[in-house]
Order: sequence, then C-alpha cells, then structure tokens
Amino acid sequence: MSDPTGKPREACGVAGVWGATGDAAPLVRTMLTALQHRGRQSAGIVACRDGRMERRAGAGRVDEVFATPGSLPSGPGAVGHVRYATSGDRAPGGTPSDAELAQPVVAGPADRPVLAVAHNGTLVDAERAAAAHGVSHAADHSDTALLTRLLHTATRGGAVSPLAALHDVLPTLTGAYALVLTDGLRMYGVRDPHAFRPLCLGRLGDAWLLASESAALAAVGAVFVRELEPGEVVEVNGEGVHSSWLDVPGARRATCLFEYVYFARPDSVLGSRSVYRTRYAAGIALAEHAPPPPGAVDPVVVAVPETARVAADGYAWRSRLPSVQGLLRHSGAGRSFIGGSAEDREATVRAKLSAVPAAVAGRSVLLVDDSLVRGTTMATVVALVRAAGARDIHLRIASPPHRRPCFYGIDTGRGDTLFAAGRTDDRLAAELGCESAEFLPLADLVRATGTGADQLCTACLDGRYPTAEPVGHPIELTRKRALK
Ligand code: SF4
Repeated sequence: MSDPTGKPREACGVAGVWGATGDAAPLVRTMLTALQHRGRQSAGIVACRDGRMERRAGAGRVDEVFATPGSLPSGPGAVGHVRYATSGDRAPGGTPSDAELAQPVVAGPADRPVLAVAHNGTLVDAERAAAAHGVSHAADHSDTALLTRLLHTATRGGAVSPLAALHDVLPTLTGAYALVLTDGLRMYGVRDPHAFRPLCLGRLGDAWLLASESAALAAVGAVFVRELEPGEVVEVNGEGVHSSWLDVPGARRATCLFEYVYFARPDSVLGSRSVYRTRYAAGIALAEHAPPPPGAVDPVVVAVPETARVAADGYAWRSRLPSVQGLLRHSGAGRSFIGGSAEDREATVRAKLSAVPAAVAGRSVLLVDDSLVRGTTMATVVALVRAAGARDIHLRIASPPHRRPCFYGIDTGRGDTLFAAGRTDDRLAAELGCESAEFLPLADLVRATGTGADQLCTACLDGRYPTAEPVGHPIELTRKRALK
C-alpha cells in the first residue's frame, strides 16, 4: 500500500518466530515483507541462539536491508520490525537517521545484548513516564528506547525475569504498545490493555510465531491460532506458550478503528472479523448514505488506489454501477513522502498516479477513498480525474473526517493540519475542486466492523480518547477548530 494521497498509511509492524527447525530469520524476513505496508523507513531482525543475540538492521525496505541470504542473522529464534516514523521518534541534539531509529532496540553490553524489543505504537507522555521512574528521556531517540531501558533496568542484571519486569514496568506506562521481545532464551508478545494495535499468535510445525497481522502468518504457511487479548503477555519457551495479564484496572479495549479502514491488509483478520468484509460493508453503507447524485451522467465508481479498492467495490455493488480503473498507481515511481512542500507533494502524486481518460471521459465519477486526513494532495487527484475528461466528480469517503490528532502510533499530524478540521463538507468539496464530498458516518463505519463502539478507538473522529491526553498538547486548539 502507498500514500499517494499524502495520508499516513503506515503504523509499524512486528514479527517473531521461536523454536524453528532451522534459522528463524528467513521466516521473519518473509513476515516483515508481508507487513511492509506498515512501515518502510527501516527494518531489523535480532536472531538468538543459546542466549546469544545477533542484530542486523538498517534504513529502507526489508528487501533493501536484507538483500542477500548472508545479511540475515542466524538462530532458531528471531524477532523483527518494520518501522514508520511516529510521534514517538525524537531528535535529541539533531535528527536521528532512519538507521539509528531501526528496531529491534537492544539493551545490555554492546557485544552481548540481553534484551531486544520490537514495538508498534507510541507511548503517551514518555517524558512524564521517564520522570516517574527517576530517569531522563532527553537522550533517547524514541519512546521504544525508553521502554527498552526501563525493562532492562527492571531485570536488575538478570536477578529479575523479563516476565516480571514486563509486569512491573508496563502498567506504569500509558499508550499503545504491541511488543515482540526476547532475552535470547524466550520470546514474549505483549498487547497493551487497550489493544490499540493488533498482535496475533501462529503455529508452524514446532515453532510459535507472533505477528502484527494474520496475513504475515499466512505468508509463511503458518496457522493462525488467535489474537492476543487486551493486556495479555505471552511467554514462548521450550515448553510452549504461557499467558498472563497486565494489572491495569479500568482500561477498556479500544482497538484502532483505522486498522480496519486502511492500515491493515484486507486479507488480515482483526477482532475475528475479516478486514476485507469490513471495508466492503463500509462501501455498501457509504452507497446507502451518499448515493450518486440525481442527474449523474453515465456514472462510474473509481477507487483511489490501493486501499480504497474494496470499499469502492462495495459502493459499486450497492449502487449497481460499474467500478472502473480510472486511476492507475505506478509502483516503480519511487517512495512518496508526507513532508516537503505542496509542490513536492503534488509532483509525487503525479508521478505515482495517473488517470485513464477512456474510463472517465464524459462521465460522472464517484471517486471513492477510504479516508481523508491531511487531504493536501486529494486536490491533485481530483485534478487528474478532471483533466482526464470527467464530467463531474463526487468524492465519497468510506470513513468520517479526521478532525483530531492521534496519540497512539499514527502520525496523522496535529489537529490544525487535518484537512477536515474547521471545514464544512461543501467548503471541503469546493477546495478540493469536486462537485460534492460526503463521508460515511461513524455509526455506520462501526457497524461495518461487526464490533461495538465501546471496543474501538475512535478518538481522531470524535475526540473520545481512551487514555489521558498528553500534557501540553495543543488539543484544545483542535477542539476549537473541530466541527460539532
Ligand atoms: S486516534 Fe484514530 S488513528 Fe489513533 S488509534 Fe485512535 S482510531 Fe486509530
């Protein structure tokens, strides 16, 4: 998946294999490749044999970091990570490079690490957490570095087991963390008490596997066993899998709704529900809520590639309209980026996407996307379709507008950079250059997931944050700008 429309598509991915017959790292590499859509800024694997760890990590995609078989570490256990920059990344004394921020993060002597941690999520108020533990966060490159340091300290040089350290430290932290970690002798998987980010357990022969998404298990032919529960810690050792639960009273399940909308792969399962089914159902609901306008001429449905394709199919089926490939994505066009000037972003979109005149010329286009976050480049997408000869363009978004920031591992930007904040749908359509713009209401989207709103995080849509909000964050500004 890509972010040709300037949206943060990625959210980090974690994977682990324990008890492989041969080396575990090739399996982890394949799993990380299957999770590449969650992050492509850096990748890393730590492999273990008889308590010793070997780490290989670097900037770039999995196939760039592990370009040859010899680039993989060796051992029957391994944990790995693909990274997308989040608000947990920091720049003490200069901007850290993608290579410096690569995970897993290790702790202990440089020549013999004793802990390796792969983290998906972001801690809320890491500075305050550090202060509560009597340490400084100033020199850390990321909240994962702090988390790893706190866990390592809690093991007291091996006097305390990693399992006890997890139960000691994690309840003192707030935020999102799906973790895969190892001390070289065992592998652990942890899902935070809100279960913001996904993490599942699989089986392949005698080996146990952990992965952010079930699609990564399928990629190596493993059997999907189950998802980890909120607050669950699994320890995988030579005797099997043992579960325990973090003691965090009052925390409710709040799985990120946008895992269903666009982060996760459509062939993954979240909360016992196929992501594909959720997106298709959202498309159907969108067609019922915002059908093609009266007077549409020879209307067609066009998906903004790639993550909106399933919702567009649902929209087309319910509307009884043809779904046409009116936009093409060019995979060889290089990496797009969220930063840079508006001109840079427009150039990136034009390099990655093109419209197909034969599909849209002279027709009313129902342009379906899964979400609208910054929206800075949606105007370019609309302009491409217009230049290809579309008669009129009606934007249909299969989720509500993002109007508030995320503190749980998704870099959607501050509230004042979110395109929908402070704009009505009509103004938004006018600024994007289309004839109309409509969004799927939150209740309809929640229904499409097959779960209840009380099981999901919807904070960036409705401001109902499942945790305390970070101190000093300009959320009040966001609230003032947000439409009621
Ligand atoms: S605030 Fe939005 S993006 Fe962040 S975890 Fe909640 S639903 Fe997901």
